[in-house]
Amino acid sequence: MPLNVRAAVVHGPNQPFVVEEVQLEGPRAGEVLVQVKTTGLCHSDLHAYEGKVPWQFPAILGHEAACVVVECGPGVTQFKVGDHIIPFLIPHCGKCAYCQSPKTNLCVEAFARLRPRESRFSLGGKPITQLWGLGTFAEYTVLPVDTIAKVRDDAPFDPICYIGCGATTGLGAALFAAKVERGSSVIVFGLGGIGLNVVQGARLAGAKTIIGIDTNPEKESIARRFGATEFVDPRKVEKLTSHLMKLTGGGADYTFECIGLPLVMRQAFECTNPAWGTSYVVGVAPSGSEVSAIPGNLMMGRHWTGCYMGGARLSRLPEIVDWYVDKKIDLDSLVTHRLKLEQIGEGFEMMKRGESIRSVVVL
Ligand SMILES: [Zn+2]
Ligand SMILES: [Zn+2]
Repeated sequence: MPLNVRAAVVHGPNQPFVVEEVQLEGPRAGEVLVQVKTTGLCHSDLHAYEGKVPWQFPAILGHEAACVVVECGPGVTQFKVGDHIIPFLIPHCGKCAYCQSPKTNLCVEAFARLRPRESRFSLGGKPITQLWGLGTFAEYTVLPVDTIAKVRDDAPFDPICYIGCGATTGLGAALFAAKVERGSSVIVFGLGGIGLNVVQGARLAGAKTIIGIDTNPEKESIARRFGATEFVDPRKVEKLTSHLMKLTGGGADYTFECIGLPLVMRQAFECTNPAWGTSYVVGVAPSGSEVSAIPGNLMMGRHWTGCYMGGARLSRLPEIVDWYVDKKIDLDSLVTHRLKLEQIGEGFEMMKRGESIRSVVVL
């Protein structure tokens, strides 16, 4: 018998979120039924909602969550009822060339999950897709076991859902992708939730200079609290790149673009150390956009690269939850709003107006 569950359904791009009762099939082999306790509103959900990334509607969006296992499908032995879990956008099949390579955090399955799979949700017999195979804007959802991590059960559901995407994307960019070394210099462009997590990741790594850049002067105090040693408002500086080259004594060891603007990506690249500096693209740029560089700026050995989900693998999530519980990282200051399922639409409006860092739906 399918379960009747409340979910926020979107019937087409930019259509309102409708909280309604939908039908959820039980878990099949290799899947678990979970109760969603908290779920965060991420910019990627907004991109899907606005039709900026291809998706099929009607849909249940949401991919950042903290859940409890309530039923295991046939053959599931790694999880049991009552386990606290966090889903992750990158599954781990353990067998493919990606999973077996130390050079990446991806799994070949990660690409497939970006397209709609057969959904377990329906409404009046018609299927409703689960965004990227997850679909957490619902009281319950069914998830494949290769995409969830068991975490300690004494950690609060709010804010650890944030570790399922945003927090890990930022922390991991500094710690797992760039592997920032003690004493190095770091510049972070854009101090939203991702950028602030890059800042605290760089601080954990022991970076000596951490420069935060944002056009909103109100970001200075929180950036400094998270570990920034300098704050620069780019509108107050005549030549940003040369200013940053000077501040870092000849170019930063690592820079991170956390906005998604090609012009800023180029600035971030150009203010790295010409011989060994590495610039990471972390922000998601609009589809169809391009970046360019003067070839001479690459010639001396600069690196220009990017990372997906902070270069983190699923197996890293429990450790990041430990960091939160042990107060090595601050997530509480970043969860600025707590909402009901009915308020998801409002939450995305706040995100668009830049009023929230992270909004979390508490179910
Ligand atoms: Zn996300
Ligand atoms: Zn794999």
